[in-house]
Amino acid sequence: MPDIAVTLAQPGERRARPASDSDLPFGKIFTDHVFSMKYAAGKGWHDAAIRPYAALALDPASTILHYGQGVFEGMKAFCGADKDLYLYRPESHIRRLNVSAQRLCIPPLDPDFVLKAIQTLVMLDKDWMPETVGTALYIRPFIMGVDNYIGVKAASEYLFNVLLCPVGAYYREGFGPTKILVTEDYARAALGGTGACKVIGNYAASLLAAEMAHSKGYSQVLWLDSATKKMVEEVGMMNVFFHINDRLVTPRLNGSILPGITRDSILTLAREKGLAVDERDLSIEEVIRSIENGSLKECFGSGTAAVVSPVSTLGWRDRDYTIGSGRAFPLAEQFFKDITDLQYGRTTDTHGWVRRIGNKRDA
Ligand SMILES: *Cc1c(COP(=O)(O)O)cnc(C)c1O
Repeated sequence: MPDIAVTLAQPGERRARPASDSDLPFGKIFTDHVFSMKYAAGKGWHDAAIRPYAALALDPASTILHYGQGVFEGMKAFCGADKDLYLYRPESHIRRLNVSAQRLCIPPLDPDFVLKAIQTLVMLDKDWMPETVGTALYIRPFIMGVDNYIGVKAASEYLFNVLLCPVGAYYREGFGPTKILVTEDYARAALGGTGACKVIGNYAASLLAAEMAHSKGYSQVLWLDSATKKMVEEVGMMNVFFHINDRLVTPRLNGSILPGITRDSILTLAREKGLAVDERDLSIEEVIRSIENGSLKECFGSGTAAVVSPVSTLGWRDRDYTIGSGRAFPLAEQFFKDITDLQYGRTTDTHGWVRRIGNKRDA
């Protein structure tokens, strides 16, 4: 494995620390250092380095700025009891980063080296790791094509970076149930497209639908399949689960759904609990019918940022449908507890999901 050249931030380059852990905004505060590595055709990935956080210099003709040849990941590190530090399922996130990269003709990274790079960066900036309940260090790896060339083709040069972001507790005042609007006007992803990968353009393409939902008083959209607008796919930037007739149902990974690692954790834990689980096609009409006949007890999204996000109300074709009482989410709460207990090292990990990388007090 190549060495990582480390240049420490000088006192004048250090970034303002948040005053407390208690109200860290998501995604706005970054730590002192960034990992970066370059790729050039014929040379491969090279120049692995950790440097003080600084603006990037990009040529205005850089391909990423014009055609969006870029992918990313989102994962977290946690500070547990006795200040032990953990990564949650980093190997799965790194594997998915390479799957996303392959979809956009970006050369693969060595997964073991990326893991080493992330561990080294987190340990270097470990003083930034918040400690209070529910907080974490969000890790954002991303890769972009950086040829200085205005033409649609795979770049021959790439930049890989990793940023760290201390983030506050997602739920500070208990679970916030959300109102979700089913959209039949827009689609997030189509079969054969890039929906199953964390490709940057997917997110720009989703903004308008989310804004329309906000303007009508909903917090996100429920996405249906692009071809028929009948089948449920995802909710916002999360996978979606339904508790129907004592079965846990989630859309199967059909090629346009992002294979969430939280989704996978929930499915694994549910099966271990003996809960009947179905990964299958699920129509919006079935969802609405099961709300009306009372067989749908719970609906929630799943993703790294929130772990789970309960849905209280679905808006569909100018009507609002409240799920159960709209206030009780026992299953979502159970999965939230199970997963966060693992993430903070509070329960024994029998799955090989939790990687201890050191202690906050380490020299
Ligand atoms: C990242 C993401 C998810 C959730 O994936 P996790 O691995 O659980 O964080 C779901 N849907 C979309 C569109 C995403 O980008």
